Order: sequence, then structure tokens, then C-alpha cells
Amino acid sequence: MATNPAGTGIMENITPSDSPPSPFDAPTSSPLPSVPPNTPSTPSPSGPPTTPFPSPGQPRFPSASQNRDAKMPDLPEMGENESPGAQRESQVSSSSRNSTLLRKNPRSRGASETSAGRIDPGTAFPPYDPRFSLSLSVSAANGAAASQLPLDDDGRKKIVVLGSGDFGLALATRLVQANYRVAVGSRDPERCRSKVEATGGIPMTHAEALRESAVVVLAVPFQHTGSLPLSNLANKIVIDVSNRNPKDRDSSGRSQAEHLQNLLPTARVVKAFNVLSAYTLSRGIRGSKEVPVCGDDKEAKQLVSEVVKDLRLDSTDLGGLQSAREVEEIPFQFFTEWKFGVILSTVVWCIMFVVTLFRSQLCSNLENMHKPNFTWDWSGFDGIVRDNVSSSSAGAALTLLALCYLPGVIAAYVQLARGTKYSEFPLWLDTWLKGRKHIGILMLWNAAIHAILVLSYSMGSVGLYDDTYSWRGPTYVACGAFTLLLAGVLGVASLPSVSASMTWREFSFVQSRVGWLVLLLASFHIIFNFWDGLIKNNFSCYFLPSIAQLCIVLPLLTLVLKLPLLTPCVDRSLTRIRQGYERVSLHGLTGV
Ligand code: NAP
Repeated sequence: MATNPAGTGIMENITPSDSPPSPFDAPTSSPLPSVPPNTPSTPSPSGPPTTPFPSPGQPRFPSASQNRDAKMPDLPEMGENESPGAQRESQVSSSSRNSTLLRKNPRSRGASETSAGRIDPGTAFPPYDPRFSLSLSVSAANGAAASQLPLDDDGRKKIVVLGSGDFGLALATRLVQANYRVAVGSRDPERCRSKVEATGGIPMTHAEALRESAVVVLAVPFQHTGSLPLSNLANKIVIDVSNRNPKDRDSSGRSQAEHLQNLLPTARVVKAFNVLSAYTLSRGIRGSKEVPVCGDDKEAKQLVSEVVKDLRLDSTDLGGLQSAREVEEIPFQFFTEWKFGVILSTVVWCIMFVVTLFRSQLCSNLENMHKPNFTWDWSGFDGIVRDNVSSSSAGAALTLLALCYLPGVIAAYVQLARGTKYSEFPLWLDTWLKGRKHIGILMLWNAAIHAILVLSYSMGSVGLYDDTYSWRGPTYVACGAFTLLLAGVLGVASLPSVSASMTWREFSFVQSRVGWLVLLLASFHIIFNFWDGLIKNNFSCYFLPSIAQLCIVLPLLTLVLKLPLLTPCVDRSLTRIRQGYERVSLHGLTGV
């Protein structure tokens, strides 16, 4: 067993004792690290813990550096200046020193802007040239654009919202609540006066509003951008809140924000707020408070992040404007991250259901079919919900629990074999590691179904007081009860309000050690219940294994594979690898 001052036995972990371990030993390449909010900045040499139970409060959006590290787990946090966005920004700084790069691009401007300073809506967007817009953004930063929001006489920050639609008004409401002076620019300020004034904003024409502040929120549907007085947006910080349905993606793949930047070469476009809905904003944020912010100009991005913070939201820097390609499609995602877990869980449940249906309902009929006077016995079907659904859910729950822990163990072996943590996991393992959170939730769901059905239908006959079970009766019931309760603890600990109140060690303890304990107890629940039947098989029913035999295989395999990792020498090697050590072979680094 590994030497770990925090615990002994199977629950010991393989990460060093000075930092609490991750439940899933392998550092994951998941872009969503399961880190409680009060996690120390360098919590574990083996990287942030990942859990089968995602905390909704955990960041939904990878930071710029996380994006870069998505396939290279456990790299130390990079400084902000090392993020791709910052790298681009430093390129900008160097390009600003090169005065020849600071010229406007006459081609793109002339192609899209009319003499009235408006963009012809029918004009095709000129190709996006990040170098060009970055150069200009620096000149804008040195020129008229503000690095701080202007203040009115009462010391309130001034900001412009263009568009008096649902989103513009909802955002104006929140900004006014945050003590901003909000000028709402509209095509017809009189028509929307009452609505705007109800938010505390001031209705104005576009031109009047744009004189108020150098920071402008563009809350007008993207397709109508061309009918705005775009020349008045020159040198301003433009916050693009638009969303895009992936179906509307054009062949260039560029985001609307990038197109906007091309239309407004002297402006500094920042993508923000688009993941919030008007409904959420107007009712007060109850769900996630995370707002991804991206843009090519560091100063503009910082200023927008401050606006985000003023609204009591959390900004997440996603780097350059190119990240808007993903960000503006986020609101159209449909349970994308759940796909793997849901498919896996459904397949596992269906396999369990078919096996139990065959064994308990169909087999006796099929085997007796050749007998004379055979009549099909339908009586078994009465208990389909009570017996088959319940046992399928139990089998699926245990299998899914093992499937939460198995990829971490496999990843540990991969790292040991390669002698490094700096190489990518195979795609299948990477997908599996990322899917553990959802598999964990679906495990809990199946366990709850099983418990409810058992309690409601068969409490009197589970064998608690049945002599044939002797001590095994109460023991397996107790194991089941503890399993369910502790699995519930894992789920509850993943709630943002709960995980936020936990320390790193507490969070890791629950998700790792308690998690393994749940797997152990769940396995005992099956073993004690089906003691004889597990080993003996009367090979009836076309050699189909029983549900107990079927669902115990993966947990046992996972536990058996875990044991060698707990031996001191393996533990030490793995710990070193996770601390950044790379084994060098004659041919250079192994596994790279
Ligand atoms: P909306 O209710 O349709 O309102 C848009 C506003 O844009 C209108 O009230 C109008 O304001 C102005 N407008 C409409 N047609 C125009 C035109 N041809 N020229 C100039 N201005 C025009 O839209 P919305 O829901 O507020 O959405 C606005 C932006 O926010 C969109 O880009 C959307 O993707 C983004 N967004 C919306 C939500 C949401 O929950 N609704 C969430 C995130 C992001 P005036 O009459 O005052 O000129």
C-alpha cells in the first residue's frame, strides 16, 4: 500500500501526500476542471481534480490558457502574458512600434462603407485580417478610445446600448442597477421612450447616444448591423453581444464579431454577454454567472471585464477575437457535453434490461416451446417494472460507477508506460475522461430508480429476515443503503453552493476517497446479495450471464487494476510523473 498520511488501504491515493488527490487519478484533459471556487492557485502537483459529478459552478468556459492546455493536462498555470490572446497582444505592441503597420486598410473600408458612413447591408463582408485590425486597435488605443469609462457629473460610469430590444433593455436595467448612466440608442427614441425610461436608461437617437461614451454595447441583431451609423463607432470599444446559430455559419468560419471588427477597423470589438439571456438578465441572474470575454485588444477586454464585474458577473478571458467563433454559438448548444454520457448510460441500461428480460421472462418459455401442449406463459410480464426495470437500473448504476473510475486508472497506466504526463491521451480515452462527470450523474439517477422501486415494491421480500440469507441479508441491504447515501453525498458536493464552501482537501476527499468507497460498497451490495449465483451458473437461458454476474465485472476489474497503483514503488513513479518528471530513454523522451 502506498504511504499516505491521510489514509490507508484501498482509499489511499497515488498523488503526493502534500496535496489531496484527485478522485480520478489521471489528470484529465477535460476543458472543465472540477475545481471548487476556493481552490488554491497551485492545488495539486497532479493538476486539478476531476470528478464524476460536475459542479455547475465550475467554469463552463476554458480560459485561454486552458484552451491551449486542453490536450496537455497538468501543465502549471501560465501567466496571463503567455496566453494566446496575450501573445497576440504582445505582437500588437510590437507592431505598434512598427508605424507602417498602423495604416488603415483602404480596401476593406472602401468595400463596405457608403459615403454616408453607413454600411450597405447587402455588401459582402470583407475578409477578416486580424493583423490589420490589431494594428489599428493599438492606434485607436493610443488615440480617442477610452481606457476607462467616462463619468457623468454624479460620478456614474457612462455607457451606450444600441437597440431597445429585449436584450438591450434587460442589459440597460442591470447596468442602471450597477449605477451606470445608460444611453439607449434607438432608431425611434420616442417610440421606445417609456420602455427605456422604465429601465432607468435615457432614450436617444443613435448619433446622440454615441456621443455619450466610448464604450458601446451593440444590442441589435447582427443582420441589421449594416443599418447603424457605423462611422460613429470609429475608435470606440464595441461590445458585441450577438449569438449565431451554427447553421448560419458562413464558409469562412469566421465569427460575427470578427466580421464586425472588419467593418469597424478603428474600433476595438470585444465579444461579451452573449451567453446571458434577456430573460435571465431581467429577472436577476440565478444560474451561471460566467461571462466569456474575448477580443484582440487587451485594454478593451479589461475594460469590458470590469463592466462584467460591475454587474456582479464573472468574466472569463478566452483570448483573442477568434474565440468568438465558439462563444457566439454557445447559446445554441444542446446538451453537447451530455451526449457521450447519455448514450453510454442508455446502451448499458438497455443491455442490462435485455439480459434480465431474457433470463426472467422469455427463457422459460423459449426452452419449453418444444414440449407438447406448450402455452406461452405471460404471467412473468406482470413484474417487468418491479423486477426487470429495478434490476436493470441497479446493474446500470454499478457499471456506470465503475465506468467513472476506470478511465482514470487506465490513464494512470498510460502515463506510467509513457513516462510522461505531457503527451496526449488517445481520443477515446480523452472523450471518456471528459464524460465522467455526466456518467456520474446518470449513475446516481439509475441508483435512485433502483432504490425507489425496491422500496416501493419489494421491501418485504428482499431477504432481510429470510433465514436463507442469514447475515448476508442485512449486510447487502446496508451496503446498498450506504452506497446510495454516499453517492448522494458525491452529487451534493458537486453543487456549486456546496463545493464553494469546501476547501480543496475536503472536495478532493469527497470526490476521490468517498467515491472509491462507494464503488467498493456497491460491489459488496451485489456480492452479498448474489453470493452463490455469482460463481455458479446453471448455464440455462442460452448461456446468458445473470445481471449480477454482468454488472460486477467492471467494478472488480477497476478495483483490481487500481491495486497495483497503490503499491509504494508504482505510487512513487506515478507521483513523480504527475509532478512533471519525464523519463528519458536512449531515444529521447519516452511517450512524446
Ligand atoms: P430584438 O428584441 O429583436 O431587438 C433588437 C433591437 O434592434 C430592436 O428593438 C431595434 O431597436 C433594433 N433594430 C431592429 N432592427 C433594426 C434595424 N434594421 N436597424 C437598426 N436597428 C434595428 O433583439 P434582442 O433579442 O434584443 O437581441 C439583440 C442582440 O442581442 C442580438 O444580436 C442577439 O443575438 C443578442 N442576444 C440576445 C439575447 C436574448 O435573450 N434576447 C441573449 C443574448 C444575446 P430600436 O427600435 O430601438 O432601434
